[in-house]
Amino acid sequence: MAVGCDGCGTQGVPLAKVSLGRDFFGGVYDRLTPALDTAPAWYCPACSQVKRMQVDFRLIRNAWRDQRGGAPSPLDDPAACRHALDRLCDIAARLDRTGPRADTLLGAGEVAALVKEMNGIAGC
Ligand SMILES: [Zn+2]
Repeated sequence: MAVGCDGCGTQGVPLAKVSLGRDFFGGVYDRLTPALDTAPAWYCPACSQVKRMQVDFRLIRNAWRDQRGGAPSPLDDPAACRHALDRLCDIAARLDRTGPRADTLLGAGEVAALVKEMNGIAGC
């Protein structure tokens, strides 16, 4: 059975498992310990890049929602907030260059929307 990339379905390319070790806010991101990886996924080199960005994006978005909802959030620290926004802008710029293949993992539109929302709030 041929195995393809879980992001774009491409077959016949080297596939890798994305494991960051540490996530954007310094938490443990473990996708190598089978018990902690409930949905193993393998990606081609191009999708691996996007997957890393998707992980950061989701983390920052969740932290942002926590903060807006009044829950403790890593973004309570203005420096961390600024850093997160910089990362989102970096992601947005990279997605522009990766093209349509990346859309299944992370859409440029949702990144742009979050950047706009965070930019519109004073103090971040
Ligand atoms: Zn792929």
